[in-house]
Formats: sequence, structure tokens, C-alpha cells
Amino acid sequence: MLANAKKYLFSIKGFQKLSSQDFGSVVLRPRIKEFTVKNEPILGYTQDSKERKELETELNRISNTIEDVPIIIGSEKFKTNDIRYQVMPHNHEKKIAKFYYASSDLVAKAINVATEAQRKWDAVPLEDKIDIWLKAADLMANKYRMKLNATTMLGQSKTVIQAEIDSAAELIDFIRLNAFFAKELTKYQPISEDNKVTLNSLRYRGLDGFVAAVSPFNFTAISGNLAYTPALMGCSVLWKPSDTALLSNWAIYEIMTEAGVPAGVVNFVPADGPVFGDTITASSNLSGINFTGSVPTFKRLWKQVGENINNYKNFPRLIGECGGKNYHFVHPSADVESVVNGTIRSSFEYCGQKCSACSRIYVPQSLWSKIKEGLLETRKQLKIGDVAEFDSFASAVIDNNAFKRISGYIEHAKKSSNLKIIGGGEYDKSKGYFVQPTIVETKDPLDKIMIEEIFGPVLTAYVYNDSEVKNTLDLVINSTPYALTGAVFSQDKSFLKQSIETLKYSAGNFYLNDKSTGSVVGQQPFGGSKMSGTNDKAGGPHYILKWTSPQSIKETFVPLTEWKYPYMKN
Ligand code: NAD
Repeated sequence: MLANAKKYLFSIKGFQKLSSQDFGSVVLRPRIKEFTVKNEPILGYTQDSKERKELETELNRISNTIEDVPIIIGSEKFKTNDIRYQVMPHNHEKKIAKFYYASSDLVAKAINVATEAQRKWDAVPLEDKIDIWLKAADLMANKYRMKLNATTMLGQSKTVIQAEIDSAAELIDFIRLNAFFAKELTKYQPISEDNKVTLNSLRYRGLDGFVAAVSPFNFTAISGNLAYTPALMGCSVLWKPSDTALLSNWAIYEIMTEAGVPAGVVNFVPADGPVFGDTITASSNLSGINFTGSVPTFKRLWKQVGENINNYKNFPRLIGECGGKNYHFVHPSADVESVVNGTIRSSFEYCGQKCSACSRIYVPQSLWSKIKEGLLETRKQLKIGDVAEFDSFASAVIDNNAFKRISGYIEHAKKSSNLKIIGGGEYDKSKGYFVQPTIVETKDPLDKIMIEEIFGPVLTAYVYNDSEVKNTLDLVINSTPYALTGAVFSQDKSFLKQSIETLKYSAGNFYLNDKSTGSVVGQQPFGGSKMSGTNDKAGGPHYILKWTSPQSIKETFVPLTEWKYPYMKN
């Protein structure tokens, strides 16, 4: 069996050098020129650096402008009477973008335009699409890097490093690496036992109809990936950006258009969430939803698709990456400094608004006093301020809803006899939506603060008895409905080895002696299971397969001369 498989592998490899026409076939197989990719380097933005000066100029320009952002359907611009503004979360008096909600009728118009564009776009050779993507990645890495970072810093309140790793590096990586994965994918062709008799081919078609990309506020890169990866694979898209990430998302749309994505392929459709969701799920042409956001929104969309199932031409693909309740589990053998630094970064960078942020930590009694001291000492040094002040560690949370939700958990901690706030606990929205990094100690490992997604800078610690490692691992696994990210800190190799098995289903991204955040495209493909999502692993090679409907073609070169099978002959 294995010997056979090997033989076929070799023949497939050799076969790549030939085009299918060399066998007399009418089937065209893509022959894409080779290229390699690397992760985009992260710039330092140190005082007096060139990039720091360029960024400051761009921050200044964007701070003093209110950009008018239209709805784009095909090549047409629309502005409705439903006017909205994007403000700076850390200075909510300051508007940076004016935009317009599409009505249900406009969403329906975009559906028609996208559905019509799909077949034409699908006919564009993959090699040409890849050229556009690589050009876009270069525009993002050079000409528009500061625009992407400044719009993300001011609009989503990210500090410079958080913007650089998101709206520059991760976005560029998604665009480049997905193009690379698409090229690699075409190398596989099915087995043809004798290609003088029969040639088998596989080709990748975009999904018939349109894909709805619904993106969250917290990662500019995710928004670009949600809208443009289906497009790379030949789909057409209605992109509904988040209101609170509008300007950075608009910058992506403009860059992709400049790079050569034709009108109608990706339609930029800001809208009220439910209006958009209700309209796309009611369309018979819906071929997929590419969603990242909260569990309730994804469940609602999934339910609506179920209710409309008899109306669709295709079974829509449903991809949803949702919330988490990510953990750090500290073993008695852990290195205290790594735990403290890793937890501070994971829990409080970007105000805990990364889907992978650590929100619950389990610490053994024997290490608690040192870890507590380390966390509290470091916490005091974190400056929470304006993103344009480069010494800020983090800034404001995204909007008033987030502020209310997070401060609600802080108030709950203040009132509950099981919970004690040991650091932080202050919040103030007079200028921006500021919540101080907050550390809570709980006596109850099943308090809601240990179970529910807070999505803010609140870390809760549960101190366990050193002899209760096993029971505590059970708590890690079973106390929340999520399974997004998790980390184990231990110097004991046999415990680490055991934890890989024990905690196998507790996280889609699992870390050993490292914090629960910071996945890199191509290095740690990302996604979680259970209620954290469909785990399609954005940033990995399998993700692009979600956006294609492959077709197998068997072509036979010799006539069929018999209808009878040999066993039928006497
Ligand atoms: P959200 O669910 O509030 O919004 C996400 C998007 O859905 C927005 O564009 C919003 O306008 C839209 N929306 C809202 N109601 C809708 C409806 N009925 N139909 C269609 N669209 C609708 O989430 P958010 O606050 O923007 O993002 C935060 C959430 O995203 C957190 O739960 C976080 O964990 C999760 N997240 C997960 C990942 C991951 O990879 N697993 C990554 C980033 C964020």
C-alpha cells in the first residue's frame, strides 16, 4: 500500500513540470510561478527612528480629519441618511470618520452585484489574483503602513506596538501567506494511473453566489482576512466592517482596490448588524458567512441560516471564530518571572480585548505570594493613556457598551464576598473609555467572573492547594463553554507532556511556558472549538479550502468499446 502511495507521489511530482496539454488534454491546469514568503518584520518605532517620525505625521493628519467613507457597491458610491461617526475611544469627543449605514435595499443591491461579479472574477486565473495580492501586501508594507497603523491606533485605541503587529505585520502576512497557500494548493492533482488513457484533474472554483464577511473591531488584520481570503479563492464578497474599526477597514478596501481587485468582487457595506444579517441570510444566493465576533451574534446568524435552509441554492458555509475564556495554568514547578510577565502581557495588552487574552489564572498556593507580588508590582507600572503617548502600555476600551460591560464585572467583584479586588478596579469615561487593569482573587472557581467572557482588562486568580493539581485541571477544562487559548507554565517535563493530553480539548491554541496570546500567521494557525468557534484555523493552509468548491474532471482519451463486463462472457 505504502509502496504504491510512494510511486504515485513521485509521479505527481514529475507531472508538475508538465502542463495537462502535454497529455493531449483540454483541461487547463494553473502553472503558477514559484515564490517564497516570510513573516513581515516588526518595526521598532524607537525615539528618533524614521518610522516613528512618519507615524507621528500620519497620526497628526488623521487626528485632524473627519474622513467621509461611502458605501461601495460595484463601482458605485452610496451615502444614506443614516449617518454615523467613528470616534477615538480614548478621546470620544474626537470624530475621525463619517460613514453611512446601508439600508436593507442597498444590502440586497450589493448581493445582486456581487453574485453577478462572481463568475467573471472566478474566470480570472489564480496567477493573476496572486499578483494582485502580492502587490497589495507590498503597498501595505510600504506606502500605506503608517496609514494602516495610524487609523488602527486612533480608531481602535491600539498602542503603536499593538497596531504594528496587527494592522501592519499580521495583515500583510495574511495577504502574502494566503497567496502562497493558494499557489501550493494547486500543486496537488489526483492520481491518473495511465495518463495516456485517462487524465484526472482537480480545479478550484469560488463559491457560487456571494459570501458575507462580518468582521469584529479588535483586529484590523482579521477584517482584511475575512473579506479578502474568500475573494482570493474566486468568491465575491459583501463586507460588513465593524462600526468601531471603520477607518482602518476602509484603508484596506482602498489598498486592495489600488492593487487591482476589480469592482464588485468585494463590496464595502457598513450597516446595522441585524439589518445586514437578516438580509444576507434571506438571500437564496448566500454561499457562505465568514464571521469573527461574539457567540450570540454567530448563533443568531447560524439559526437564521437554519430557518432559511429550504431557500438556498447551495448549503452556505458557516465559519465563525468567537469568544474565549482563556486560561493560564501554573504548576508548582513553574518559573515565576515567566508567569508574571506573560500574564501581564496576555491579560492587559490591548486592554484584554484580544480574543486570546488571559482572563483566568490558576496558581498553586506555594507560588501565590511571589506571583501576586509580581503581578501587583508590574500592574502599578502600566501606564494607561493616549495612544499617541508612546509610553502608554494600553489605552481605552472600544466603546461605551464595552465600558459598561467591563465595569459591571468590576462592580460584581466589589460586591461579592467570594471575590476581592487586589489591584486596580477604577474606571472613568469622562474623556475616553478608560478601565484600569484589574486583578481579582476568587475563592469560588465557578463564580461568573471565572466563566463568562469579559473582553476587558480584568484578570481573576484562583489559588489552589498544591496537592489538587488534577482537580484544578478538571476545573480548567469544564468550567467554561469555550476552548480558544490556554497556557501551561511548568518546568516539569513529565507534567508538560501529560498536560498536552489532559488539556487536549481545552484550547484550539495551546501554549507551553508561553502566554496565551500572540499567534503569528503561518506559525500558529488560529482558532478554537466548543463555543469559541468552528476552528477553521485562519493563518494556516487549510483555511483557504473553506472558500473553494473544487471540481474533479476525468478526461478519457480512448474510446469505450465494450458495455459488457468480462465476467458476463461465457
Ligand atoms: P460582535 O459580535 O459584537 O460584532 C461582530 C460583528 O458582527 C460586527 O461587525 C457587528 O456589527 C456584527 N453584527 C452584530 N449583530 C449582527 C447581526 N445580527 N447580523 C450580522 N452581523 C452582526 O463582536 P465584537 O465586539 O466586534 O468582537 C468581539 C468578539 O469577537 C469577542 O467575543 C471576541 O472574543 C471575538 N473574537 C474572536 C476571535 C477569534 O479568532 N476567535 C478574534 C477576534 C475577536
